[in-house]
Amino acid sequence: MARGLVKRNEDYSRWYSDVIREAELAEHAPVKGCMIIRPYGFAIWEAIQRALDDMIKETGHVNAYFPLMIPESLLKKEAEHVEGFSPECAVITHGGGRKLEEPLYVRPTSEAIICSTYAKWMSSWRDLPILINQWANVVRWEMRTRLFLRTTEFLWQEGHTAHETEKEAVEEVLRMLEVYRRLSEEWLAMPVITGVKSRSETFAGAINTYAIEAMMQDRRALQAGTSHFLGQNFARAYDMQFQGRGGALEYAWSTSWGVSTRLIGGLIMCHSDDQGLVLPPKLAPHQAVIVPIYRTDDDRAALLEAANGIAAEARALGVRIKVDDRDHLKPGAKFFEWEKKGVPVRMEIGPRDLESKQVVLVRRDLGKAGKEFAPMEGLAARLPGIFAEMQQALFDQALANRRDHTIDIDSFDGMREVLNGDLAFVNACWCGSEKCEALVKKETTATIRVIPDSGENNEGVCVVCGEAATRKPVWARAY
Ligand SMILES: [Zn+2]
Repeated sequence: MARGLVKRNEDYSRWYSDVIREAELAEHAPVKGCMIIRPYGFAIWEAIQRALDDMIKETGHVNAYFPLMIPESLLKKEAEHVEGFSPECAVITHGGGRKLEEPLYVRPTSEAIICSTYAKWMSSWRDLPILINQWANVVRWEMRTRLFLRTTEFLWQEGHTAHETEKEAVEEVLRMLEVYRRLSEEWLAMPVITGVKSRSETFAGAINTYAIEAMMQDRRALQAGTSHFLGQNFARAYDMQFQGRGGALEYAWSTSWGVSTRLIGGLIMCHSDDQGLVLPPKLAPHQAVIVPIYRTDDDRAALLEAANGIAAEARALGVRIKVDDRDHLKPGAKFFEWEKKGVPVRMEIGPRDLESKQVVLVRRDLGKAGKEFAPMEGLAARLPGIFAEMQQALFDQALANRRDHTIDIDSFDGMREVLNGDLAFVNACWCGSEKCEALVKKETTATIRVIPDSGENNEGVCVVCGEAATRKPVWARAY
């Protein structure tokens, strides 16, 4: 079987699959649409989890766990919610060799089970707010699947909160949107636009859905995280009532918010290149790798000693570093492997380097152009600075891609041309009618990604119908 990567500009979609395979991130499972996340891919997910879990806890939340299966009757209590999710649910009808009296739904999301539990936990306003997150898997039966981006089963976190007032719930929704923006920009080096979704793209059962949207290298959008204001919809459906400060019974205000293993798909498509994966140093399982180049046993011993010395020094500074001492692989094969796996910094050290007390250092995103001879003296201490520069460079590059491919458009013809052609993020005024939104989707397959919360004056005329418009959404074709 032929190995290697196709180039991005030849076949972006195949390139994406090639990167995943060659970097050993994940592979297809026996059940269509499911994925096996391999150890290297899972290590990236764990790094994302650690960063986000800290932020979730810093903002006052705690973790808990709710069950995988939801009784049908419970799910059906919120009409809009069940209508939205039913078509993509997996349903269990048999258990223990018998037909079940009531079918059980494998959670597509956990509002039903969590809200009905919160109802039992709240009796007075003193029990609020409830601020809980869970790390879990969910199942949504997808027809067209792609590793990480859209899989039938995926891993995520889902936060679910209940509040005494509307104001507190809205603040929570925006607080978590900001947490997601920081996760995306500061850890994944992936710039995002934040804002609210249009009605047709809103979570089933929510009042409003806020999202972070990123641009991939092929100029398509990726919804990378969502935060929903649920109003009192779920409180009414699941009886989340409490005795208010005035003594009367009141319904709680609730929110939910989540990001998933989809983020890894975003990470790949945002930064990687024709040589393979490129990882932001903050999330890389190995931030640096040292490859000793030896022919004789004596060389091997001396080079490994030097490499292990540098690694020990670096580890003491918190650097995740690996010495590649595998004997069965040639140095060239090792370079190739770490390049495909996106390790941020690769160092080579041979007998002559050892004599002149230096290593060859290559930053993954710069490739051969960034190759330098770095003195061993003080090398470990330099690494954190190199990682910080690379992290920033990846963010800047992604931001430049978005800036260069964002266009203000005021005619439907112009919009059609761009969204059926080279693609871009299109800023165009919209009257708010679902009809105009649907027409754009029909003719370009683009959707409103987000109505940005920039607070600018966006008065104009609708790009489709010419009626007065006060909103200026970002339109794009999306994953
Ligand atoms: Zn219109």
